[in-house]
Amino acid sequence: MIKTHTLGYPRIGLQRELKFALERHWRGEIDAAALEETGAALHERHWAEQADAGLDFVTVGDFAFYDHVANHIQLFGCEPARFGFDGRETALARYFTLARGVAHEHADGICCGNAQHAGTAALEMTKWFDTNYHYLVPEFDTATRFALASERLLGEVAQARSLGHRVKVALIGPLSFLWLGKTRDAGFDKLELLDALLPAYVQLLAQLKAAGAEWAQVDEPILGLNLPGAWILAFERTYQTLNTAQLPLLLATYFSPLEENLSMACKLPVAGLHVDAVRAGHELQSIADWLPAHKVLSVGIVDGRNIWRTDLDAALARLLPLAQRRGGDLWLAPSCSLLHVPLSLREDGAMDLELRGWLAGAREKLDELQVLRRALAEGEGSVWLELREARAACEARRTSTRVRRPEVAARLAALSPNADRRASPYPERRAAQQERFNLPLYPTTTIGSFPQTAAIRAARAAHKRGELAQPEYEAAMRREIDHAVAEQEALGIDVPVHGEAERNDMVEYFGEQLDGFAFSANGWVQSYGSRCVKPPVLFGDVARPAPMTVAWSAYAQSRTARPMKGMLTGPVTILQWSFVRDDQPRSATALQIALAIRDEAIDLEAAGIGIIQIDEPALREGLPLRRAAWDGYLDWATRAFRIAACGVQDRTQLHTHMCYAEFNDILPQIAALDADVITIETSRSDMELLRGFGSFAYPNAIGPGVYDIHSPRVPSADDILRLMRKAAEVIAPEQLWVNPDCGLKTRAWPETRAALANMVQAARLLRRES
Ligand code: GLN
Ligand code: ZN
Repeated sequence: MIKTHTLGYPRIGLQRELKFALERHWRGEIDAAALEETGAALHERHWAEQADAGLDFVTVGDFAFYDHVANHIQLFGCEPARFGFDGRETALARYFTLARGVAHEHADGICCGNAQHAGTAALEMTKWFDTNYHYLVPEFDTATRFALASERLLGEVAQARSLGHRVKVALIGPLSFLWLGKTRDAGFDKLELLDALLPAYVQLLAQLKAAGAEWAQVDEPILGLNLPGAWILAFERTYQTLNTAQLPLLLATYFSPLEENLSMACKLPVAGLHVDAVRAGHELQSIADWLPAHKVLSVGIVDGRNIWRTDLDAALARLLPLAQRRGGDLWLAPSCSLLHVPLSLREDGAMDLELRGWLAGAREKLDELQVLRRALAEGEGSVWLELREARAACEARRTSTRVRRPEVAARLAALSPNADRRASPYPERRAAQQERFNLPLYPTTTIGSFPQTAAIRAARAAHKRGELAQPEYEAAMRREIDHAVAEQEALGIDVPVHGEAERNDMVEYFGEQLDGFAFSANGWVQSYGSRCVKPPVLFGDVARPAPMTVAWSAYAQSRTARPMKGMLTGPVTILQWSFVRDDQPRSATALQIALAIRDEAIDLEAAGIGIIQIDEPALREGLPLRRAAWDGYLDWATRAFRIAACGVQDRTQLHTHMCYAEFNDILPQIAALDADVITIETSRSDMELLRGFGSFAYPNAIGPGVYDIHSPRVPSADDILRLMRKAAEVIAPEQLWVNPDCGLKTRAWPETRAALANMVQAARLLRRES
């Protein structure tokens, strides 16, 4: 029997209905009942889409008001004690407190800095494997207890059943759930909680069965990681136990090959196994060999991480032998949850028909599964029209002159071997730059953006809608630059920036001006909670028809005698935050982007911009899930950065910036970027992150962030002094810069001004000390 299903579906809604309902609820404009109604309407609609597309089951349990990991925290009754819930709050209110924390706010928006006023911090947020989706991190300690504590999931199953759907429930498996959490006590091993957690799972599975669920899909994506032995060993026992609930289990893996866990995963006492045939297609054969014939093999044949239409002929060629060989059931599915792609792209009004025809959103991917199922079950003749249409679209994409631009490939091939190296080693560049800029010890700067006020957003939006003509728009942006420069002059910032008022997003801004990128109107993907991103579609060879930032930076430089820092986004970050081509390696695409950024840096330099920053906040998040693949990635990623950065002369000072990262395991590669200055996010780790740079003897200059820009709290000069003194214990003062953790676009001016004034004061005190 061939069946189709999906591991999960986008939850935010085509018009981002969930986002807007959530935000209205948080502002107190709609009550919990109205929000629940929106949520229920959305998942009912999404189940209907799955049923209409002919899937054998609808997936229940993938919906969440904020995040599915947070749902599990409530489901298993392990809300951290630090939130101090007293039993009077509703489950939904507690849920949003876990997700968003309790803020302490002063009337003027500036916090006095009293630690008592910090409020209760939300659960930490971190990236879900190598995606751009952020989950809320469970917190575990020796006192953690588990008990089924939420009826929500059972309610959803009942709701789906009452609508006549056949139900498969999606759950995060117990081992992945524990793995994803963090522990506060250093010596504590989360795995010790497994025995306490399993009974709650068993009880839940039994209840789901009683409620009419036919299958439970239990996601264990950690099977694609390099796991410690104890975790690997725990799988057998875990699934023996879960099996006692007698609800058929589909163990789901994705994002990464199983490798050393492959035979173990095939032998676990579960009724079926799902594998990611896009990222781990090379294992399909051995899985088909290892997986006992009575078990279901679910093949993730349609890419759940990208938006290209599936090459159905190629998919069928891979599926046919499996269908012929395996006696047991063969299920077809997307490679992973469709949470990571937009709901639909075929009808998107912002893109031309040709391009749209190459794409598939979640809905279209479900249709592809149906075509594949029918072709296998009833013969290709039963779907010849659909196959022909898909074939034509793939062929059009393959041969389009919009995709291939031979001059780009030719330029890359002709690149000199020295293109990724600066002319002279760092010490010589340093001397040249010092002579040119004569910066004081502990120079001060910011990371790029200044507050994006309502006026700025309104001007940008009006310009985009065509309601604000180009000259008026430019005048408005120049006024913002004037303002940002004047503020920085008054504050005494040594290396000012223009403020990035003209940028809506650090990737979109560049993508819109580069050839090879397209933008959808509604291609939203959830990033966290109500936050969605609309990643650009990088469909073709990249080229830069004209300078992208030079006019703004040159204007900003004309307003000050201080060296204005030009601001670019790096190739790896542009790659990482876009939907990119699957018809050439990511490395090739990264190098093409690198060339465009290189040209921009050279043009900035020619326009008199002597300091240029190339942001690469996503460099680390691009690391493959498997360690063995790290070197290969780091090789091309760092080369792409250097190609972008190394077109400038020695006397031009090249900065880079990275945030949200644990750098210690890639320090050699960060040093190999050879940026003259790197600014990093460090304040929340209390400068601990810098120790690694110290022991590695990081050679170039470094600006460890001195305050957290995510919070309205204004750091005192003393706070900053303390952090910088700590920094100076591990990095020589001559190497240190003073700057915030990241860009200031989400902040307001009063707290920004106050914080930067303290930062400049701290830098002056440091200079006096040394
Ligand atoms: N230059 C960008 C800004 O300041 C950097 C943002 C980032 O690192 N995420 O907004
Ligand atoms: Zn940053």
